[in-house]
Parts: sequence; structure tokens; C-alpha cells
Amino acid sequence: MARVLLINGGSEGHINPTLGVVQELVRRGEEVVAFVADQFRDYVEPTGAKVITFNIGKFLEAFLAGGRSPWARVGGLLRTADIVIPSILAQTKGERFDYIIHDSMFGCGRLLAQILDLPAISSCTSFAFQPNSFESLQDHLSRRFPADENERAHREFQQLVRSVQAKYSVQVGSAYEVFCNPAPLNIVYTSRSFQPDGESFDETYKFVGPSVVPRSPGEFDFSHVDTNHLIYISLGTVLNQAVDFYKLCFAAFAETKYTVILSVGKQTQIAELGDIPANFIVRNYVPQLEVLQRSKLFITHGGMNSASEGLYYGVPLIVLPQTSDQPIVARRVAEIGAGIQLNDEGLTAEDLKEAAERLLGDASIRKVCLEIGDSFRAAGGYQRAVDEIFSYKRNVGIPH
Ligand code: UDP
Repeated sequence: MARVLLINGGSEGHINPTLGVVQELVRRGEEVVAFVADQFRDYVEPTGAKVITFNIGKFLEAFLAGGRSPWARVGGLLRTADIVIPSILAQTKGERFDYIIHDSMFGCGRLLAQILDLPAISSCTSFAFQPNSFESLQDHLSRRFPADENERAHREFQQLVRSVQAKYSVQVGSAYEVFCNPAPLNIVYTSRSFQPDGESFDETYKFVGPSVVPRSPGEFDFSHVDTNHLIYISLGTVLNQAVDFYKLCFAAFAETKYTVILSVGKQTQIAELGDIPANFIVRNYVPQLEVLQRSKLFITHGGMNSASEGLYYGVPLIVLPQTSDQPIVARRVAEIGAGIQLNDEGLTAEDLKEAAERLLGDASIRKVCLEIGDSFRAAGGYQRAVDEIFSYKRNVGIPH
């Protein structure tokens, strides 16, 4: 039995794919200590891991302190070092670990691997990046910000690199290394064929497909839901306060043959939506995997997990990307013929309804999605992830 330290991010999209991995590690005899944001304790504890936590409020405050430009986001990850590193060191004082699994983005994983001198595995819940694709994205996104703001954030990043290096005696590396945290083994929760430019990644990248494990269905009752024409709509768990968009969905699908399940997120007040059409079921949160298994169409923000889960169950997607990697996911979905991308700027109810009916009436799109679902399952999911972790352990001489 080896002891594993798992460092994870502060959002459900980063946690969910690791639940199956942790559960499987524990099942195969590993002892896992998981460091996650405080509100995810209840998600992670059932996997059998020992959970230690950090305060997400303080983490986000540090992450966003430099602003929202691309350089500020990279710098923001370094700013979180002072939240994450001392907390982990204090909570694991005197404990010995054999290896570390860290999120590919949050949590200063590469820095902790250096400080604790542990073999490292990166858990990548979005598409993986090569240095050149990361740099072009960084350049592309920077064009949306004034030059002086980019320059200031770049200077601050360089200053943060120096101060983190001095304070923790680590090598921070490039912006790519800070943001993507590549490790000697990188577990990516998609298939090589869905990953843009998938063939360009070397064998340290293992594309294991979505890591889908049944989650608790909660109290959602499907017995009265007509699933013959079911549309599911969700903008994910982070940026979902979009009352105007939800009302637009009402206008698009009220009094149609469709049943619509709309997840508006825990931050949205359902009362603000006004009258809810009779064919809509609106909740702050739904058991998404259960809903998708019954849906004919998924209207999504294109979060990597949501898009992957939809395709895993062969459901065509309308993607309305909002931020971060969502435009890349939307483009990829459209490229491979698994759905379409819409821009929510200027979108009308008629546009949305027309796009939905086009997709629902196109058997070839459904076929592509079912094939992608098959390829995702064939990639192996969390069991393959753990096979790869064990093979890495053998290669670096960690005893079982
Ligand atoms: N999710 C869910 N029920 C909901 C909304 C979201 O179970 O009502 C889950 C969804 O299955 C996915 C995660 O929350 O695993 C959202 O992750 P994603 O990467 O799609 O988007 P984010 O929330 O990070 O923007």
C-alpha cells in the first residue's frame, strides 16, 4: 500500500473526474489524502480518501487579485501559493507520502511536488496544452485587454515568480508550466481523438476518456418526466447566473412537445425567473448523469465535463461558450460533427429553437455522438487512469 497526496481544485468540474480515480485507488489498496476546497468534503469522503480542506473564498480572492487578463490569471495561480502550500504543509506535518497527484491547473501542484520531493502525476480535467498552443491562446486572449494592462500583469507575474521561488526554494518555470502543471505522467480525461492535435502529445500523456462514476441521484424523481422529447439545459456550476438566458429558453420551448430540464445553478434564485412554463422542470442542481442518459439534446456552456458527459451518453450538443476553455470545447464539438456552437450575444429564442430542431432532426449527428460515446468508454476511464498510475509507480520504483 502506498500513500498518495491528491491536490485538487476548487470547482466541481475539477473534482468530479477524480472521484472515480480516488475510489479505484482506495479499492486497490492505496491510502489517499485529498486536499480539496472545504465545500467538497462531502463529495470526496465517500471515495474512502481522508479529506483535508482549504478555504475557497480566500483562494479565489488571491487567484483574482491581479485582474482577469490572461497574465493576471497565470499570476493568480502563483498568488494562491500562500493559501495552498502552508496549509498543506501544516495539515500533513510528520506524514510520509509516496507520490502526489495534482490538478493540472489549481493548487500549485508542481511546486508542492518539488517541496515534498515526490514523484508527480498531473490530473487534467480539460484539454491538454502543448507549450506552443498555450502561448498562442495566451496571445489571442491578451488582445481583448489594453496593452498597458497586459504589460502590468506580465511584470507582476515575473515579480511573483521571483518571490515564490525565494520563499519556497522552488523552480517556478515558465507561464506554461505554472498554468498547465505538466508532470512525468499526465492523466487527461478525454480521448486522444477528441483532444485537439491529439497525436502531438508524447507517451507521458494518457488519454483515458471521461472518468464517469455514478453519483447520487439525490431527490430527483423521473417517474413523471416524459423522456421521449427531453432537452437538458445547464450552464454548469460556476458562471450560471443568467436569468435572461433562462427566460429566452422559456420563450424558445414553452408550449412545445419538448420536456425541458433546466439546471440554473445554486447561485440563481428560481423565483427571479417569473412564470415557469408547464413543460419545464427547473432546479438549482440536478443529477446530470442521470438526466443525460434520458436526454435527446443538451444545451450546455461547454464546460469540459458537461460536454464530455453529454457525448459519453451519445447526446448531441448545442454549445454556448462563456469563458476559459469553453470556446475550445465548442469549436471541437462543431469540428467533429457532434453538435453546433451558438453565440449567446444577440441570440434569439427563434435561433435557439431552430438550432435545437435541426439537431434533433438529424440522425447523422446522433450517430456521430454515439460513436464518440463508444470511443470514450473504450479509452478506459478511471480504471485505465489507475492502471497508468500503477505502471508509473512501478517505473519509478514505488513499492505497492
Ligand atoms: N453538474 C451536475 N448537476 C448540475 C450541474 C452540473 O451534476 O445541475 C456537474 C456536471 O455533471 C459536471 C460538473 O457539474 O460534472 C460541471 O463541470 P463543467 O466542467 O461542465 O463546468 P463548470 O461547472 O466547471 O463550469
